[in-house]
Amino acid sequence: VDNYDVVVIGGGPGGLSSSLKAYQNNKKVLLIEREDKLGGILKQCIHNGFGLITFKEQLSGPEYVERYIDEIKKSNIKTLLSTFVLDIKKVKNGFLIIFSNSKGISKVLADNIIFATGCRERSAKQVFIQGDRCSGVLTAGLSQYYVNILGEKMGKEVVVLGSGDIGLIMARRLSLEGSHVKAAYEIKDSPSGLNRNIKQCLEDFNIPLYLSMTVTKTFGKDKLEAIEVAKVDKNMQVIEGTREIIPCDCLILSVGLIPENELISKLGVEMSKKTSGPVVDGQMMTSIPHIYASGNCLHVNDLVDYVSEASVIAGDNASKEIKEIEYKNITIDEHLAYCVPQRINIKTSNSKTIMYLRSRCKMDKAELKILDSSNSEIYKKNLMFVNPAETIRLEVNLDNIKDDIHITLNEKE
Ligand SMILES: Cc1cc2nc3c(=O)[nH]c(=O)nc-3n(C[C@H](O)[C@H](O)[C@H](O)COP(=O)(O)OP(=O)(O)OC[C@H]3O[C@@H](n4cnc5c(N)ncnc54)[C@H](O)[C@@H]3O)c2cc1C
Repeated sequence: VDNYDVVVIGGGPGGLSSSLKAYQNNKKVLLIEREDKLGGILKQCIHNGFGLITFKEQLSGPEYVERYIDEIKKSNIKTLLSTFVLDIKKVKNGFLIIFSNSKGISKVLADNIIFATGCRERSAKQVFIQGDRCSGVLTAGLSQYYVNILGEKMGKEVVVLGSGDIGLIMARRLSLEGSHVKAAYEIKDSPSGLNRNIKQCLEDFNIPLYLSMTVTKTFGKDKLEAIEVAKVDKNMQVIEGTREIIPCDCLILSVGLIPENELISKLGVEMSKKTSGPVVDGQMMTSIPHIYASGNCLHVNDLVDYVSEASVIAGDNASKEIKEIEYKNITIDEHLAYCVPQRINIKTSNSKTIMYLRSRCKMDKAELKILDSSNSEIYKKNLMFVNPAETIRLEVNLDNIKDDIHITLNEKE
């Protein structure tokens, strides 16, 4: 059985960055991807807006990943495409990775594993839309694949459910492809996507966005004919008397992404309820030493630049010796939805700890503080604007912490 220093699972932007970093650290690296091409979800994202932080340029998704794929091609990183990781077992001298491809079922040994498996889309049944399984109801990412990769046409009369970025981008894309996008409906009382996407994808195309409304039913046996929409109250319950039928032949669902973590949770890695990804420390290491995670399987990222950044951290640390481990936890107040990492290993250097946080609500001006166990301030940052759709990124020196730390976020007068 072949033995690798680092095996990376998933060849999206996360896996590409991790593999390259481990390779630059002179490690023997294997990159496994289940599709027949590297690039992950970015292969189908032909709009621009990628790489503003990393390359200070507006790139399309394929252009962004191409830069990493070119480096991979020049390296000695072994890449297995059309190869699906089925199972991983902890063995005496590392981890046994079992995968399947055209050659059958094979195994390799790994000293370290980096999970970069991305996420999948929530479907109609997961958001309780009643109706038959008629054609014309599909997730935003899938419709993006049909239009951008396969060159297929979607419906003539389209409705979008959810105001997440992928749904907004597809509203614009389908308008440009000649569909009539009638409206977008959002169950929450504020949009979920980035402000720039609300402006550029809906407002610029005269597509109305209805807040505090949802789709409750689909009509049509073989092909979608109409949907039922309704207003919801503060608890997101349908307000009777507000139901309305909208004729359409295509419903695009942009109702959330779920980190893909079946393999990692099967290994017994501690998972976070807040992110649906593994709990990690500042080195992106999970609760099982030598197992790392990064990218969208760790938490759903808004910007690919942060995926690449965190994946470099994972790749770097997966190629280093692990010193001792002593964890201190990071807790957050009620205004924050989550913080990645969730804990700090104080036995290692934390002079440049990168943290990714999400707020629960919008704030015009806010103050973020990191406090030690005696409530003394370790770090403070003033934020001009806070939006749940946008990651708050911090770079903090946590070398001197001795105990758990707490993060607060408060609106400023
Ligand atoms: C539709 C869409 C639009 C976006 N638009 C923007 C934008 O405009 N700007 C921006 O900065 N960001 C954008 N993002 C966000 C950004 O692209 C993602 O955060 C990023 O692509 C995530 O990278 P990843 O490597 O974690 O996951 P992915 O790109 O999903 O890659 C994961 C890879 O793992 C593979 N895999 C999973 N399980 C296995 C297994 N068992 N065996 C082998 N391989 C496996 C998958 O096939 C996949 O290739 C967008 C995301 C989406 C979905």
